[in-house]
Amino acid sequence: PVPVVAVVGRPNVGKSTLVNRLIGRRQAVVEDTPGVTRDRVPYDAQWTGRQFTVVDTGGWEPDAKDRAAAIAAQAEIAISTADVVIFVVDTTVGATDVDEAAVRMLRRSAKPVLLVANKVDNAALEIEATSLWSLGLGEPFPVSALHGRGAGDLLDKILELL
Ligand code: GDP
Ligand code: MG
Repeated sequence: PVPVVAVVGRPNVGKSTLVNRLIGRRQAVVEDTPGVTRDRVPYDAQWTGRQFTVVDTGGWEPDAKDRAAAIAAQAEIAISTADVVIFVVDTTVGATDVDEAAVRMLRRSAKPVLLVANKVDNAALEIEATSLWSLGLGEPFPVSALHGRGAGDLLDKILELL
């Protein structure tokens, strides 16, 4: 079977932009408005001759109600069916309470998690990314999903884990 990578995180951290970067085409919908991706959306990906599936998810939030609860539930299903989870954080904002709640949820899932420090558009922001060690998920992996900075290294790292 083709291995599955789920991309999760709170709204607006750049999950869909990262998904497009990982699959090498603009297919996942990117929006400034949070909550555009409602479901789990799988995309075929290839890197160095290996095939895998990347699943985009809607923004995860704790104690969500109504529509937001349904979106969070879909993200949790994506996690439970993934081989590796990519947890995306917005480096320009830093670790929030919602990120910390997501980390607790990810721990319960017992899945391998790769912490991606997104929006590291320049070298100066790499310093900010190191502060995300505080989340307790190991080394933050700095990328700019928007500009492609660090994307090749991230793909290599994902394949190591699959
Ligand atoms: P999602 O809600 O987590 O899927 O986030 P989106 O991928 O829809 O992106 C939300 C916003 O963040 C959009 O305006 C993106 O252009 C922006 N964004 C995503 N990745 C980056 C990045 O690496 N750098 C910067 N500066 N902005 C980004
Ligand atoms: Mg999205």
